Amino acid sequence: MNNIQTKLEEIYGKGTVVFNETTLQLEPGITNIFDSSRDPAVLSELWVKWRDATGKKMANLYTEWVELQNTGALEHGFENLGEAWRQKEFFDTPELVEIVEGLWQEIKPLYVQLHSYVRRKLKNYYAQHHPNYDFPNDGSIPAHLLGNMWAQEWDNIFDIVQPYPEVKEPEFDKKMVEKGYNVGNMFRIAEEFYTSIGLYKMVPDFWKRSMLVRPKEKDREVQCHASAYDFYNNDTFRIKMCTEVKMTYFQTIHHEMGHIEYFMAYRDQPAVYRSGANGGFHEAIGDTIALSVRTRKHLQTLGLLEENSVSDEDKMKSDINYLMRQALLKLAFLPFGYLVDKWRWRVFSGEVTPDKYNEEWWKMRLEYQGVTSPIPRTNTDFDPGAKFHVAANSQYIVYFTSFILQFQFYEAMCNASGHQGPLYTCDFYRSKEAGLKLLNMLKLGGSKHWKEALQQMTGKTKMDTEPFKKYFQPLLDFLKKENKGEVGWAKANINWKQETKK
Ligand SMILES: [Zn+2]
Repeated sequence: MNNIQTKLEEIYGKGTVVFNETTLQLEPGITNIFDSSRDPAVLSELWVKWRDATGKKMANLYTEWVELQNTGALEHGFENLGEAWRQKEFFDTPELVEIVEGLWQEIKPLYVQLHSYVRRKLKNYYAQHHPNYDFPNDGSIPAHLLGNMWAQEWDNIFDIVQPYPEVKEPEFDKKMVEKGYNVGNMFRIAEEFYTSIGLYKMVPDFWKRSMLVRPKEKDREVQCHASAYDFYNNDTFRIKMCTEVKMTYFQTIHHEMGHIEYFMAYRDQPAVYRSGANGGFHEAIGDTIALSVRTRKHLQTLGLLEENSVSDEDKMKSDINYLMRQALLKLAFLPFGYLVDKWRWRVFSGEVTPDKYNEEWWKMRLEYQGVTSPIPRTNTDFDPGAKFHVAANSQYIVYFTSFILQFQFYEAMCNASGHQGPLYTCDFYRSKEAGLKLLNMLKLGGSKHWKEALQQMTGKTKMDTEPFKKYFQPLLDFLKKENKGEVGWAKANINWKQETKK
């Protein structure tokens, strides 16, 4: 089992693509092209080649891995691996499957509005700039046109879907370079936010031993997927990531540092409690902080946004632009965040058999995300494996729940800081009250049931979509007006070619 697991990770980590006679790695090579290219042929080529280089080589290994893991799960008294996984990240929550389905049903109407708006804008854009490209007419969005290899976050196409293009929005990546940002001070600035609300400084070992950029030495290949590490002593915590001077990496730094803050807050707990209240909590901490960092108010503090006096009307339009950018990150992610594990749970339970792995994957990507593949897929492909967390066998539902929880945490901290006005304008920088609210919860680690930890922080025992909806309400009103009821992809089919598996 360990051999297979290592092989799967190795295939992913070593995945490269030859493009224009150059060998590209996922980060930064392929990702940079996905961030900025609008050429459907280029994007489709890279999209397919990445899946050929990774997932396609994993299909048989994955089948065997599932069998072995399920054997282990059965021997330990679980129904299947899915149940074991859920128990690991969401201790004592047998109703988790129903909880997440309920949360998704509440979010879905918002997602459908965003999807339909984005689809219309993309369709118009491609009709104008690539008139020979055949944009589907069935209501679906081609998965390679959303500025992300997995169509999971869409902020890279903000310029195409910007609600009010006449209100110029700052280009933060350029601005960061102008203002002298580099990888070192990006981490220092993130640390300063945490200490400003009374949380911890990073430890000396962190600064000495973390890997913050891709090593220049040619003698090693590193796997760049950003991650944070607890060494389970009291003074060794590190981050591994291949940082570039860009806003998206700046947000990732806050995300990873959130893990470290959590590690540090519960380091005095007995070893068994040195974990998040549930896996979603761990993923939500840094993102909660990043919500505050991305506000207009805080970006002004950081010198990344000018404090110009704009008219009230332009301010309102700029707010909608801002919420759109956030929705492309947060709302766009949710169906993907749900389906990755929903698919795996169905695989682990035997409901989806190996000969249907890829077909069911695409049925779910269409059902939940409303996206279709650029070229027909077959069951000799294994597209789930082209995603890090599937290759690395790491759980994904924690991100889905994190994206709901972080708005609950954010609202609670905003209330503690005495924030007035719309939720999306709240910056709790330097609020010790907000920080204390968070810290008290972090210190619990896994010593209390997550429902209790959640209640301590938010007053509620349930994961709740209300703060998420409240945050995005002005954008939702805008989208509904623009879409005029033309929403959904009910008539779409997956782009599929039947082939017999070798
Ligand atoms: Zn994380």
